[in-house]
Amino acid sequence: MTSTLLRGRTLSFLRWPETVDDHSAWRYEDDGGLLLRDGRIVAAGAYADVEKKADEGAKKIDHRPHLLLPGFIDAHAHFPQMQVIASHGAELLDWLNTYTFPEETKFQNAQHGRRIARLFLDEVVRHGTTTVAAYCSVHRESAEAFFAESHDRNMLNIAGKVMMDRNAPEGVLDTAQSAYDDSKALIADWHGKGRQHYAITPRFAITSSPEQLEMADALCREHPDLHMQTHLSENHAEIAFTLQLHPKARDYTDVYEHYGLLGRKSLFGHCIHLSEREADALSDSGSVAVFCPTSNLFLGSGLFDYQRYRRREKPLRIAAATDVGGGTNYSMLRTMDEGYKVIALNGEKLNPFQSFWQLTRGNAEALSVVEKIGTLDPGSDADIVVLDARATPAMRLRIETVGTLAEELFLLQTLGDDRAVREVYVAGRAAKSDMAV
Ligand SMILES: [Zn+2]
Repeated sequence: MTSTLLRGRTLSFLRWPETVDDHSAWRYEDDGGLLLRDGRIVAAGAYADVEKKADEGAKKIDHRPHLLLPGFIDAHAHFPQMQVIASHGAELLDWLNTYTFPEETKFQNAQHGRRIARLFLDEVVRHGTTTVAAYCSVHRESAEAFFAESHDRNMLNIAGKVMMDRNAPEGVLDTAQSAYDDSKALIADWHGKGRQHYAITPRFAITSSPEQLEMADALCREHPDLHMQTHLSENHAEIAFTLQLHPKARDYTDVYEHYGLLGRKSLFGHCIHLSEREADALSDSGSVAVFCPTSNLFLGSGLFDYQRYRRREKPLRIAAATDVGGGTNYSMLRTMDEGYKVIALNGEKLNPFQSFWQLTRGNAEALSVVEKIGTLDPGSDADIVVLDARATPAMRLRIETVGTLAEELFLLQTLGDDRAVREVYVAGRAAKSDMAV
C-alpha cells in the first residue's frame, strides 16, 4: 500500500489553551511531517524524523509554507437548506414557515436530494470542513442521499432523518410510527457503514408530538451509542410556543429531559436563553450546547454566552457550528470570526488558539469522536486542512506585520474563507484539488 508524506507547518491541540502562551496545550512543528497510510496518520512530528519512517515509494507533497491542521468539524448544519441560505427578513418561526419548510418538501424527490447532498459536501470540503453533524429533511430518501454521497467520499459524517409530525406543512410531516420505522431502517443500513454515524434527529419540541418524542426516546434507548441532535432555546417566540405545547414542563430543556433525550451524545443547537436550572441540567447530563454564531446573528436570535457557559461551576460542553442555512456561511473560519464578535458583545474574548482548538479537537471532543478525528496524532484518520495565510491581496499585505503564530491564526480567522484553504485531505485523499470546480 502506498503512503503519502506531507510536509508543512503542523499544528494540533492536546487540550484547551488557557492563553496564547499556554504552549503545552498544542503541538506545533515549524518544519513538520505527516505520514499517511490507509487513510490514517501513521507518524507525525519533525519532518526529518517522519521522513525516516516513510517507505521508498512514498508520495511526497510539500505544502510549505502553509499550515497543516486537523480538518474542521461543523457540529450542526442542514444540508437541505442550500437554497434557503440568504433568505431575507424573518425570525426563526417565520423563517421556517416561509422559506425552510417549503424548500424541504422538495427532498421527497430522491434525485433532488442526491444532487444537493453532492453540492453540499463539495461546498463544506471546499471550505476545509471534513466532518459535519447534518440534519437531513423528514424524508427517508434525503438521509439515504446524504449517506450515499458521504460514504462515496469516505467522509466521517454524522446525520439523521429529521423527525417532525406536527406544526408544519403536510409535505414535511411524518408520523410518530413512520419516524421510528424510517430511523430504524436508516440506522440498520448506514450506521457504522464505513465512516458513517447515524444521529436520532427530532427537529425540535414544536414539531414533534409527545408520542414522537417517546419514539425518539425509544430509539435512544435501543441505540445508546448513537448521537441525538435537536434544537433548544433559540429565540423567545420559540420558547413561548414550546411551553404552550408542553404546559407541564418546567422549562424548554425539561421537555427533552422528560423524554430522556439528554446525555453525552446529545447535541443541542443554539442554547441561547437558558436558565441556570437548564444549564445545570445540560451540564449534569454531559449534553452539548452548539454555538451557531452566524445563524444567531442573522435570525436575530441572541448572543450565546460562550465564556460564561465554560466558566460556570457546572460548565457546559460546547461545540461550534455553521447552522447553514440559518447560518450564512459554510466556512468555519467565517463562523469563528462571527463567534469572536458575539463573545465580544458579551464582554469577553476568545483567543486564536482557543478558536482553532474549538474547530478541531474541541468539536471532536464535543461530538465524542476525538479517538478518530480532530487531531494530527498517529492513529487518527487522515482528515487534514492546509491553510494559506497569504491567500488574498489583503491577507498578503496584513501578514507583513504579523510576527507570531497566534497573530497568523487570528488573521486566518478574521480575513480567511475558502480561498485560504489550499488543500483538504479526507481519509488521506486530496479532496479539494480533486473536485470539479
Ligand atoms: Zn439548525
